[in-house]
Amino acid sequence: FNVPNPVNEPVKEYRPGSPERESLKKAIQSFRSSETDVPMYIGGKEVRTERKLRISPPHDHQHTLGYFYEGDAEHVEQAINAALTAKENWAALSWEHRASIFLKAADLIAGPYRARINAATMLGQSKNAYQAEIDSACELIDFLRYNVFFATQIYQQQPNSSAGVWNRTEYRPLEGFVFALTPFNFTAIAGNLPTSAALMGNTVVWKPAYTQVLAAKVIMEVLLESGLPEGVINLIYVDGPVAGDIIFSHPDFAGIHFTGSTGVFQKIWGEIGANIHKYKSYPRIVGETGGKDFVLVHESANVDEVATGLVRGAFEYQGQKCSAASRAYIPSSLWPAVEARIKDFLSEIKMGGTEDFSNFINAVIDERSFRKITAYIDAAKESDQVRIVAGGNYDGSKGYFIEPTVLLVNDPNYRTMCEEIFGPVLSIYVYEPSEFDTILDIVNNTSPYALTGSIFAKDRYVIEKVSKALQNAAGNFYINDKPTGAVVGQQPFGGARASGTNDKAGSSLNLLRWVSARTIKETY
Ligand code: GLU
Repeated sequence: FNVPNPVNEPVKEYRPGSPERESLKKAIQSFRSSETDVPMYIGGKEVRTERKLRISPPHDHQHTLGYFYEGDAEHVEQAINAALTAKENWAALSWEHRASIFLKAADLIAGPYRARINAATMLGQSKNAYQAEIDSACELIDFLRYNVFFATQIYQQQPNSSAGVWNRTEYRPLEGFVFALTPFNFTAIAGNLPTSAALMGNTVVWKPAYTQVLAAKVIMEVLLESGLPEGVINLIYVDGPVAGDIIFSHPDFAGIHFTGSTGVFQKIWGEIGANIHKYKSYPRIVGETGGKDFVLVHESANVDEVATGLVRGAFEYQGQKCSAASRAYIPSSLWPAVEARIKDFLSEIKMGGTEDFSNFINAVIDERSFRKITAYIDAAKESDQVRIVAGGNYDGSKGYFIEPTVLLVNDPNYRTMCEEIFGPVLSIYVYEPSEFDTILDIVNNTSPYALTGSIFAKDRYVIEKVSKALQNAAGNFYINDKPTGAVVGQQPFGGARASGTNDKAGSSLNLLRWVSARTIKETY
């Protein structure tokens, strides 16, 4: 195989006056000044229904960005049928021809679509320019290019042969269709879940979060312009249970590629289990779910690194990353200095809409999230177990704005140390350095999740001890860095326990789940 050797897409800085900033501003303006029509795409055709739902920026919820069309059971059936119809030709197409479509898509996003997809993510999901750039541009481009490279590694793995016997393995697509259920928080994930399965020869029904449809439409535009044949990926907006009832009882359901909440994933797993006798094959279940990601600080850590890691890890994209730092354990000897640095940083941070590039904090995704997060903050304000170190204010009148909030708790089992909040709330427990071993147990056991986590320490013996003691507590473990921002091809991403099936996005391990191998032995 001779595929282009991927390198990670460089992150553009959008400095004032730069051409990329000007074109991004233009794309934002164009989305803001018109109403974008966002149809479903089934079998290559745009599908509109009577149920038009409004799209608005979370930071400016009275403004209308456009409308999308909600489908029903009939559209789910149509999408499945389109995927099944497209399957034969798509699966038979040689791998290089499938791969070129996704390489072309990566180039379109890197070039002519970069501003448009970033603007859609900035407005539709309330991400600032930097967060959009590392997600909807760089990470999505990287997924598309690296997956092609990872696929070659899979296809090249062949068994031994011997005299008179020729053995080979065919990495065939799954039999049936794949369902991709994608989240609002990363445009890159929304793009990766359907395309990774499709690259391996599968056809897909793709249902994005309703709060992410603007960027989903741009992904679809790019894929169609890249030459993706009709029916290979079918994009539908249908209520979850309505879609689930049909998809999970369909005999051709071959697998689900999921990122979202632990609760929804467990419910889906149950449904698949209940229907297991109906399927032709055991479906692949691949999911990345929740997190309650830790930052453990040792006395030997550098205070500036800790404070930067906490503020960036907890508050970038308003803490709405599965990987966000949400519980930290800090030794009493360092706490006064760490507290002062965190407050310094937060006093410099601005909050507001994404159109103003100087805002670091934007809005949380929707009213439901706003209510859930602020309920935790209100309860913390009333609790005598908590001191509010920073933030704590919120205002949902124009947009769903919540200040970056730091809670100091006096009980390492206080609920904000254990439960996933998915917002800009960081809980801190200050421990006595002599209790370090007890804290290790607490880090390991207070949450059911195991997605990401960090140790900040300079003492090499401590780093090694923590790394071993917490080997099952995080699928992505960081030493002296924030626990967010995994880069495709560099830090394959995913966790176990209640955080998912740990099939590492951005690696060949993930792509392996989308093939069903056939072993052939030929004697000659
Ligand atoms: N891959 C992202 C990161 O490393 C997190 C993905 C997610 O939130 O689902 O920060």
